[in-house]
Amino acid sequence: MKTVYDSVVARDPNQPEFHQAVEEVLDSLGPVIEAHPEYLPVVKAMVEAERIIQFRVAWYDDDGNLQVNRGFRIQMNSAIGPYKGGLRFHPSVNQSILKFLAFEQVFKNSLTQLPMGGGKGGSDFDPKGKSDNEVMRFCQAFMMELWRHIGANTDVPAGDIGVGGREIGYLFGMYKKLQNEFTGILTGKGLAYGGSLIRPQATGYGLVYFAREMLATTGKSFDGATVSISGSGNVAQFACEKVLHLGGKPVTLSDSSGWIHDPAGIDPEKLAWIMDLKNNRRGRISEYAENFDGITYTKSEPEPASNGLWGVNVDIALPCATQNEINAQEAEMLVANAVIAVVEGANMPCTPEAVEVFQNHGVLFAPGKASNAGGVATSGLEMSQNSLRLSWTSEEVDGRLDAIMVNIHKQAYETAEKYGMPGNYVAGANIAGFLKIAEAMTAQGMV
Ligand code: NDP
Repeated sequence: MKTVYDSVVARDPNQPEFHQAVEEVLDSLGPVIEAHPEYLPVVKAMVEAERIIQFRVAWYDDDGNLQVNRGFRIQMNSAIGPYKGGLRFHPSVNQSILKFLAFEQVFKNSLTQLPMGGGKGGSDFDPKGKSDNEVMRFCQAFMMELWRHIGANTDVPAGDIGVGGREIGYLFGMYKKLQNEFTGILTGKGLAYGGSLIRPQATGYGLVYFAREMLATTGKSFDGATVSISGSGNVAQFACEKVLHLGGKPVTLSDSSGWIHDPAGIDPEKLAWIMDLKNNRRGRISEYAENFDGITYTKSEPEPASNGLWGVNVDIALPCATQNEINAQEAEMLVANAVIAVVEGANMPCTPEAVEVFQNHGVLFAPGKASNAGGVATSGLEMSQNSLRLSWTSEEVDGRLDAIMVNIHKQAYETAEKYGMPGNYVAGANIAGFLKIAEAMTAQGMV
């Protein structure tokens, strides 16, 4: 395993996020390779993307100036289905971040038990402060290159940070025009043109369903629990909503400028106000403190924005903003406040050192590749509905989502036990996700 890791670092020495994601997986796979030495070549192959596409995205801003961004699509692994994974529009986007996300996605998609390979893409474009017309021109320019590389049976992108319903609509419109075909090429589409009910809610709801299952293993629940949540985007909003449904009390949210603490709890009315602020008015979370009484707002400079948020005394923490937002020191603060569970809504929000702190102190900890898989699982359900040319009801999709999350929890929990690491959801998720891919890649001759 060490030689595999060393070769990854030697090939791409400037990709720290990718190294971090690979190292975490390799650390878990030792017992599997011992039991199945024939799978070592699979590991070597999996750390190399099947294909990486990088392209220029040139577009004109509202003042008529040419802007040039960089676009990417990482087609990581197609052993069990078409590449599947979101598009991220954020100034921090680079190959290292997208490769880490695509690598994680391969395991996550395998855990859903749906036929989806893994991919990820995006651009260093920053949608913040751009007009609707600028976002539209950018999305059209982005799709003018990407369309030739994707397809309903090849690669089906979705949203991620900075890519929500508005962006998916513009991207879909341009794809349809270029290909002259109406097909389920993207997920997260609007309901009027092939989207699935519950897809917007799916990652946040699925996260809380997973956390509910974890808590139940120790006889605990969300009922009456205080919960800190970071971020205030898609995942954070619907995690907050589901925590409220299950009787919990969310007390924090954040964005890249700062975070709010509402000791009285973010109730359904306040959450509706936040959803309008973030999704329609595209405002900042600081405005929450100006609009409601008894709120503390802490500005965070520099990023990560959650500085201090993890010092709030809570029972459950749901990091839902971005990668590496909880470090070892912040993990210690959570442990000092006797946190029971830390469940990742974002991808890799906890550093490896933070994860070690949680595991050493018996905190229930779930990695994003298991706990936030509800989004891509429901994207898989959107693909099925598109293929069948049918739409299922909210209850049907939500029921399937809940069942998938229960099953992912069961796989991670039972696999960890089977390999002698009870309660270690990181190892359980990595091993369970890996075994299916390993079997498929081996059967297909590792091409
Ligand atoms: P959104 O763009 O809707 O929201 C992201 C939130 O995180 C915003 O509040 C944003 O603040 C904040 N944020 C983003 N980058 C940073 C940063 N560098 N520092 C501090 N805060 C930051 O994205 P999503 O909610 O969709 O995604 C959140 C996380 O969940 C990501 O890690 C994503 O990969 C993961 N995820 C998302 C899925 C989905 O279905 N959407 C599925 C599975 C995982 P601001 O607005 O100020 O930038």
